[in-house]
Amino acid sequence: MTQPRPIRTVRGVRDILPGETVRWQRVEAEARRVFEAHGYREIRLPLFERTELFARGIGETTDIVEKEMYTFQDRSGESLTLRPEATASLLRAYIEHGLHVQPKPVRLYTLGPMFRYERPQAGRYRQFHQINVEALGEAHPALDAEVIGMLMELFRALGLAERLALQVNSIGDEACRPAFRERLAAYLREHAGELCPECRGRIERNPLRVLDCKRPGCQPLIDKAPSILEALCPGCREHFERVRGYLDALGLAYRVNPRMVRGLDYYVRTTFEVLTEELGAQNALAGGGRYDGLIQALGGPPDPGIGFAIGVERVTLLLGAGPDGPLPTALLIPLGEAALTALLPLAQAARRHGVGVEVAYGRKLRGELERAHRLGVPYVVIVGEDELRADRATLRDMASGAQRAIPLDRLPEELAALGRPG
Ligand SMILES: [Zn+2]
Ligand SMILES: [Zn+2]
Repeated sequence: MTQPRPIRTVRGVRDILPGETVRWQRVEAEARRVFEAHGYREIRLPLFERTELFARGIGETTDIVEKEMYTFQDRSGESLTLRPEATASLLRAYIEHGLHVQPKPVRLYTLGPMFRYERPQAGRYRQFHQINVEALGEAHPALDAEVIGMLMELFRALGLAERLALQVNSIGDEACRPAFRERLAAYLREHAGELCPECRGRIERNPLRVLDCKRPGCQPLIDKAPSILEALCPGCREHFERVRGYLDALGLAYRVNPRMVRGLDYYVRTTFEVLTEELGAQNALAGGGRYDGLIQALGGPPDPGIGFAIGVERVTLLLGAGPDGPLPTALLIPLGEAALTALLPLAQAARRHGVGVEVAYGRKLRGELERAHRLGVPYVVIVGEDELRADRATLRDMASGAQRAIPLDRLPEELAALGRPG
């Protein structure tokens, strides 16, 4: 018989192996703890939606919608898309279930995989994971500061705050951005010859995106471009000043970066990013902003909103390799069938005491001890025929080799006492 060829993962998609999931669980657990301490509640959303939702919710002319979506027809011929981001889905749910009748702001978070057909590279995958936060129905600038402060609090809890930089900006609103857009486009048109081809294509369609260009050749022109902060209307200026005042009150360090416009069309006023210099080109760990008007554009009430997304892959990369995760406290080694039968309910009782145990299958003692060593469990419990007759078990400390006998019926309690730290 010929050996069948093994099937591998799809390009740009990866498995998260047990050695890594420890870090993932830590990030997720800290996020839940920090967010819930701020009054945010979890919402779980479907992984695919009607394609139309993303076209309307993200913007027809964005790279995501034009080039990066996993779109397919299901068997009924409907066009569906694997979600490339979470905000549109979350707002769809907010509208669909009438969550806007709840006391505002409605504070929500969600976590899970997103899908974009991008060129795979280090730290970037076609199935990637985000933690998303959205606070809906409130325009007060203190909410902007709350959301940004909560994001930084999560990074502080993960021990990463010192290695990250927070940048904030205001990109204006419908009252002041159109005029700025015109001024910027006029400036860029004058110097179109000095821009990269991609930026030249953006001058008419979306000149603000030029400010995002990372190509070195475009930087001198971007540095001299008019600043959005000088073009803000009084309302946007006051909002931004108050956001900064509250961030100062929270004791947060940040830099105002007037070139930071974020890639999505729907942002207004406050935008922010958390950056690292440690991951090369993939330097943004998290980012977000205000999107007043988007809920209405999706057919909902005229509620403002603000949120952010965290790239979980990048956060776990920064956390680096840590311990391999929780190990069982003991391997129970029965020598023979009678001992195995006796140990099974005792193992279950120990687990109910909160102790992690594994049961071996009554094979040779030497082999099982070697396995315990490779697993790295701190203790083994050996029950042979002699021990069984005497209602005893032998407890061995793997590090010191010290052994003592314990009554078999006391095994769950004895293991529980060992499992308690200190
Ligand atoms: Zn460029
Ligand atoms: Zn404005």
